[in-house]
Amino acid sequence: MMTDKKLPCDVVQDLLPLYVDGVCSADSRQLVDAHLAECDDCRKVLADLQESETEVAFHADAKAVIRAHNKHQSKTALALGVLISVFLTGVMGVMLYVTLKGWSDWQTTITVGASLLFLAGLTAVPLLASSKRLTKAIVFSTLALVLVILCEEAFFGEESGLETLQIITATIFAISLFAFPVVVRQAHLPEPLCHHKLVITMLWDSIWFVLMMLFLAIDVPQEMGFVMVATLSLVAVAWLIALAARYLRVHWLAKCGIAVVLLALWTALGMHFGWAMFDGVDSPLLVGGIGSAIGAIFVAIGAILGKKGQK
Ligand SMILES: [Zn+2]
Repeated sequence: MMTDKKLPCDVVQDLLPLYVDGVCSADSRQLVDAHLAECDDCRKVLADLQESETEVAFHADAKAVIRAHNKHQSKTALALGVLISVFLTGVMGVMLYVTLKGWSDWQTTITVGASLLFLAGLTAVPLLASSKRLTKAIVFSTLALVLVILCEEAFFGEESGLETLQIITATIFAISLFAFPVVVRQAHLPEPLCHHKLVITMLWDSIWFVLMMLFLAIDVPQEMGFVMVATLSLVAVAWLIALAARYLRVHWLAKCGIAVVLLALWTALGMHFGWAMFDGVDSPLLVGGIGSAIGAIFVAIGAILGKKGQK
């Protein structure tokens, strides 16, 4: 039953969601239409409502498409991951059988097992992981590689424990140099840490570099002080360059200049102590001076360009 009574705005706006969804009665619809024809405010509310409805519908659609795509991809990856795992487990099974029969020894079987874990870390782990694939692959395969090295050294190596430590720290340092930035970038770190991923990376790499050099230096006790001065001063230079690159708000040429100065000073220090040597050049002061001068020119050009850029 239609009435002539006009609806107040708040009643119309209460009805609008039903109106937009097309689920209000024909009578209500007619009343709302009549009101909308005369009321700008309610028309605006209707427009907003329609817009947000479309947006919600659009986002829901997009999400559904992405989800379907991911589902398909992850199904394929999962199948491949399972296949590789079954294959690797099969190989391990054969190794165990052969060993139990007495045709092979346990040392070989355990080393092969560690190698299979390394292989799994590079293949099955990223395929089976649902998130942070690269990080998991890197961490898993690095640990497995260390295990392989330990097995090799323990079962077949004639080397001392020190050489094992040298190989392990060198391996972790070499992998970290390339892989750790990726791991840190993907990691979800708590609030204060997440803005300082470079510092965390530098800290991790520095620790392994210093450990590696320390284990190398222990081998040559008479050179130990010399090697550690070279190592620690290089680490300090690397930190200063990285911090300048990350935190100084200057032109990139100025940053290059700072790096040149620091490297020149480190080289001069090396010439003085003897880890840097050049044919025909024997003055640390000359090398440090010329290098610093070139670096200073870069810093000056960078400063000028930086000022121009601000204008
Ligand atoms: Zn109104």
